[in-house]
Amino acid sequence: MGLEDKIPSGILLTTVEGVFGWVRQASFWPATMGLACCAIEMMAYGTPRYDAGRWGQEVFRASPRQADLMIVSGRVSQKMAPVIRQVYDQMPNPKWVISMGACASSGGMFNNYAIVQGCDHFLPVDIYLPGCPPRPDMLIDAMFKLRKEVQNLPIGANMDDQIERNEQAALTA
Ligand code: SF4
Repeated sequence: MGLEDKIPSGILLTTVEGVFGWVRQASFWPATMGLACCAIEMMAYGTPRYDAGRWGQEVFRASPRQADLMIVSGRVSQKMAPVIRQVYDQMPNPKWVISMGACASSGGMFNNYAIVQGCDHFLPVDIYLPGCPPRPDMLIDAMFKLRKEVQNLPIGANMDDQIERNEQAALTA
């Protein structure tokens, strides 16, 4: 009997996917994308008091080429939206988006012509974080929810899905 007959089909790939997901979910590098008051809480999240570095997710990158997560923290002005989308497009796949705070998710109190009523009009959002502003603890909680989602992704599955969602978000922009 050959080795292939003894090992149930898919067991090797399942194990590799598990390790891959485990590594990927523990090494987020967020792009710097502070837009308003919510950004202060996002910065606090990386400080020693909250210490996001305990989970390997505090390394904010100034270059989108080195980032795989965008935390949109604050209200998005009409003029800023195309810039954010361009930064997002420059990030390599796979990548994720957290919409942090009421303003980023829905425009919040700024229901006017100058503010985009939710960054999901031009970005594929993975996690919506409520609050005005959300506390750093809530951002940590959102990161853990995202980690769980990423951990269970099959290898390559995210790419097709993400490209499709990116195209849809670009169409509605
Ligand atoms: Fe500022 Fe509140 Fe809007 Fe965040 S949700 S950007 S704290 S007004």
